[in-house]
Amino acid sequence: MNATIFNIQKFSVNDGPGIRTTVFFKGCPLACAWCHNPESIHPQPELVYFNKKCIGCHLCVKVCKQNALSADGHKINIDRGKCVRCGACTEACPTEALQMAGKQMTLAEIMTEIDKDVVFYQQSGGGVTFSGGEPMVQIDALEALLKLSKARGLHTAVDTSGHARWQDFERIIDYTDLFLFDIKHLEEDMHRRYTGVSNKIIIENLRQLSARKAAIGLRLPVIPGVNDSDTHVDELGKLLSSLNIQKIFLLPYHGIARGKYERLGQAYSLDSLAEPSQMEMERIKNRLENFGLTVRIGG
Ligand code: SF4
Ligand code: SF4
Repeated sequence: MNATIFNIQKFSVNDGPGIRTTVFFKGCPLACAWCHNPESIHPQPELVYFNKKCIGCHLCVKVCKQNALSADGHKINIDRGKCVRCGACTEACPTEALQMAGKQMTLAEIMTEIDKDVVFYQQSGGGVTFSGGEPMVQIDALEALLKLSKARGLHTAVDTSGHARWQDFERIIDYTDLFLFDIKHLEEDMHRRYTGVSNKIIIENLRQLSARKAAIGLRLPVIPGVNDSDTHVDELGKLLSSLNIQKIFLLPYHGIARGKYERLGQAYSLDSLAEPSQMEMERIKNRLENFGLTVRIGG
């Protein structure tokens, strides 16, 4: 069995307890306006262009059989409608200005990467986290990797948007020590506007996981002007205090992913948005703590 993976991050300390290896699955049903990993959304590998590395040799243009590339002075233009993601141009490029985001890996290859750092997991109380994208999109591979990890005695975490069928959560719940569960907005209209999908299935899955006494770390990206109002924070406080949530992680918006959108040929819709101040983050933290919740700023 294979999985489409766009990154395996070693020595991760923000994706669950201890030192961890985080495996990033490609493909996500959401398209959040603030997504830090826009290369994670499309389910297949895709072409990334680093124009600062480009020396204008145009070798890539010559090898592309689809005529998806054209010379533009010292740079190139990509017609993504014509690109079939064959990767030939990335192999021809002498400077790695063209790269593929994402690749197929066998489960054995993924486990080999995870196994390399077992000693660090043991010393730190860490383990492996499956993230994305949305790892539930590749549920067969995710389930198999969780089982393989548990067979090795590793602590397992799944970082999820919650947008998946409940029967898929049923398949992994016994092999997942911690769910890192994202909530973006409780209002349906706002959720659709900023993520492209309904929040109903997400909130229902959160309730179900809570009822099943799964360990849940709740992640809330704090997006100024979108989900940080007192009214919305209080609504969140009411919901989360009624559930079985271990800890809430407030993740402040930051715009460091702007360049990634450019490299993928996509527009970044939050270009003028400022990052929340520490004082703003403390305000939200205090407000949620008033509901008896345990809250931390950061991952
Ligand atoms: S990935 Fe293949 S089809 Fe796409 S631009 Fe490169 S060579 Fe052309
Ligand atoms: S092969 Fe690489 S360096 Fe040469 S033009 Fe294409 S992207 Fe630029």
